[in-house]
Amino acid sequence: MEVYLDHNATTPVRAEVIEAMEECLRADGAFGNPSSLHEAGRLARKRLSDARRLVADALGAEPAGVTFTGCGSEAINLALKGTFFTSTLPHKHIVTTSIEHSAVLKTCAWLQTQGCETTYLPVDNTGRLDVEEVAQALREDTILVSLVHANNEVGTLQPTAEIGALCRERGVPLHVDAVQAVGKLPVTLESLQCDMLSLSAHKFHGPKGVGALVTRPGVELTPLIHGGGQEHGVRSGTEAVAQAVGLARALELALAELPQTREKLWALRHRFLRVREELEAVKLNGHPEHTLPHTVNLSFMYCDGMALGLNLNLRGIRVSQGSACASGQIEPSHVLMAMGLSEKAAHGAIRFSLGRDNTEEEIDYVVAELVSTVKKLRLLTAPEDIGKCDENCPCFVLQEA
Ligand code: PLP
Repeated sequence: MEVYLDHNATTPVRAEVIEAMEECLRADGAFGNPSSLHEAGRLARKRLSDARRLVADALGAEPAGVTFTGCGSEAINLALKGTFFTSTLPHKHIVTTSIEHSAVLKTCAWLQTQGCETTYLPVDNTGRLDVEEVAQALREDTILVSLVHANNEVGTLQPTAEIGALCRERGVPLHVDAVQAVGKLPVTLESLQCDMLSLSAHKFHGPKGVGALVTRPGVELTPLIHGGGQEHGVRSGTEAVAQAVGLARALELALAELPQTREKLWALRHRFLRVREELEAVKLNGHPEHTLPHTVNLSFMYCDGMALGLNLNLRGIRVSQGSACASGQIEPSHVLMAMGLSEKAAHGAIRFSLGRDNTEEEIDYVVAELVSTVKKLRLLTAPEDIGKCDENCPCFVLQEA
């Protein structure tokens, strides 16, 4: 059996989305350049503006506040760098958290080389931020708060609306990385009390190669790409109409089915979590309630997560590890470390991210395989070898194969 449980990494594109996109690619469809004045251009322009309106309506924005980008990372870069370059303050400071996606962390690190100061706020052991910590971190020179609403590794949701209200009171704009939230939760600019929100189509059964930055009226951003002035002058380059149409159609479908999908995913989550009754020493990483239902991050103690992930892969089960192999050293996830997990617990972590197409049978298969694989690995893996990557590491064996 093949079971895909890595929906936080990416999702398959839905047939309805492919159909909508295809029409924008074909010679007898809307393949034109939206800037062209002739009929082919008009048709493409119409598709693009319909897609923009749909995204704007879904997120409570004006169409002029929707900028299509090449991915979620680009939307985040635009929010952070665009704000930095627009600010006229002599000294600039950004507040973010220690559990952000690398698109935020690496952008902040780069901005530090440009003279920007960054405060990385800590989280508790469920991955939640304390609103009071944000209040204390805000300064006269704070130009932006950037916060991931739904964490990609553990699924924990932040008290974003509360933080947004605080930021508004203090006159500091809030950017929300909603890449894992859009299409899974009913989020809008208003419900999150934010000024900017980043999203990415491939996380909700849309195509790769397209994301969007959604902003409130009045948000000014210095463009990162200069040229023909497309996307209200914020992101030049001939618009990828098919990608934008695919994003909008995927969002439309996801939102129309949201209540049923969420109910199904909560039920599958509970079914899956029965694995804890069959195995000892399994820890749920993340918040039990303030969470994306489909994201289940578990630490299997006395078991190497890398070996477990690779063995599950051999059994047709696709998951992500909480540790990444970097130059022969296994690096524990920065998110799990920020949540205060021990290195051993972080090395034994696996992220299971469920999707709308998973079934009860698939979940039962995964639970059964997980139980037998963890039991075997616990017998085979010496505790001192957990988290080490040498010639005996299964990831080396697979790389050579
Ligand atoms: N932010 C979060 C929380 C993510 O999970 C991801 C992707 O995994 C990104 C940003 C980056 O999105 P993209 O892959 O579209 O660049």
